[in-house]
Amino acid sequence: MAHAFFGGVHPNDMKAATKDKAIEQLAAPAQVVIPMSMHIGAPSKPIVAVGDKVKVGQMIGEPGGFVSVPVHASVSGTVVAVEPRPFSMGGYMTAVVIENDFQNTLSEDVKPAADPEGLTPEQLCEIVKNAGIVGMGGATFPTHVKISSGFGKIDTVIINAAECEPYITGDHRTMLERPEEVVGGAKLLAKMFGLDKVHLGIEDNKMNAVEVLKKVIEETKAPVVLDVFHTRYPQGAEKQLCQAVTGRQVPPGALPSAIGCAVFNLNTVCAIYRAVYQGMPVVNKVVTVSGSGVIEPKNIECPIGTPISKLFDACGGLKEETYKLIMGGPMMGLAQYSTEVSVGKGTGAMLAFAEDEERTSETSSCIRCGKCVGVCPMHLEPLYMFKYGEKNLLDAAEAANVLDCIECGACTYNCPARLHLVHMFRTTKQKINDAKRAAKAKADAEAAAAAAKKEA
Ligand code: SF4
Ligand code: SF4
Repeated sequence: MAHAFFGGVHPNDMKAATKDKAIEQLAAPAQVVIPMSMHIGAPSKPIVAVGDKVKVGQMIGEPGGFVSVPVHASVSGTVVAVEPRPFSMGGYMTAVVIENDFQNTLSEDVKPAADPEGLTPEQLCEIVKNAGIVGMGGATFPTHVKISSGFGKIDTVIINAAECEPYITGDHRTMLERPEEVVGGAKLLAKMFGLDKVHLGIEDNKMNAVEVLKKVIEETKAPVVLDVFHTRYPQGAEKQLCQAVTGRQVPPGALPSAIGCAVFNLNTVCAIYRAVYQGMPVVNKVVTVSGSGVIEPKNIECPIGTPISKLFDACGGLKEETYKLIMGGPMMGLAQYSTEVSVGKGTGAMLAFAEDEERTSETSSCIRCGKCVGVCPMHLEPLYMFKYGEKNLLDAAEAANVLDCIECGACTYNCPARLHLVHMFRTTKQKINDAKRAAKAKADAEAAAAAAKKEA
């Protein structure tokens, strides 16, 4: 039974431009620029050097710690640079640049598991780890860490197929065109967590995908339950999806695992399937290229590391009037200032705006209408959080639970004063976390100095 979550908004979904367009394969680019950080956690460490020949699926970056993943070559060719390059999260990030030889030579390491059905949960998790799989809906948390830390503690696994952000249709097309990967990956998750069923949460604006999945689930007798929800943003936010499926609420400051839930993006589930049955690590990504600035919007599958300029080229280019580029959806995505940045594991969309999508106001102040409070799915009071952030009152902002903000953008969307609420919350959270880290470092240094003095 579907449970409702509090708040949310109903933006125009803008999916018509691409929802009926099959996924196209991008003609491989001459160069790929593969960042060593496409995940939450420690960046990976490059293990190749300039001049090395590499093959598709070969590891080129090793994990930089437990919460980290390996990175693999997405084309075959020659490494021409290992150096900092413009990064989609801002600034620069070490990247391995590969000159494509267009041979598409597969690494000897890419081979399917010999007996997939006979693998233990731990062996499956090891395959997920070695394939460099992360939360591919944009969260980018290493999937093997989520799985291994959930062994014995999770009673509900949910596949997130809500794809609630406007414009984005890659998951929708994947369900229509590759349902076996979705259902096969779901079966593997059920096995890893020892469950007799997994849930797949989907919105009712994708009923043709529901029909396709239903057929495959029935034919293969797969342990998958489809939960169809009314379309409402942010239905695909982890905590809201958990509530919608189970009726349980994640406590403030906690993760879904606190209520026995583990949520996996649909793309992640397909990546698990490919890793086990094809031996293929994460080397490709389906990206929706859309928005009023794109001549011919499409869903495109491209090698990881493809410069975003190549995606726009494949869509007929950008209109002259284009004034804004966003990586991700319009609600949670990040503005980009260069077409040199490349597609990462969490990139689901590249949008270009040329019309009046952005309703900004230079000088504005809160009119205390309360509209932001009514739509916040986390039961927060954005107007106060904004005021505290603006005045740099970090303790007050923390007391107002700004750290629980999931940055969904529903408040910004609904604010008649057009205040940059989410931007303020991101900055405030960053400042609070920086202050906490600095305080801890200071306390550790003082404790170490005191211990040294005692010994002396
Ligand atoms: S305060 Fe945060 S969680 Fe609440 S609506 Fe705004 S962005 Fe979303
Ligand atoms: S919606 Fe905007 S103007 Fe209204 S109370 Fe919230 S922050 Fe203020």
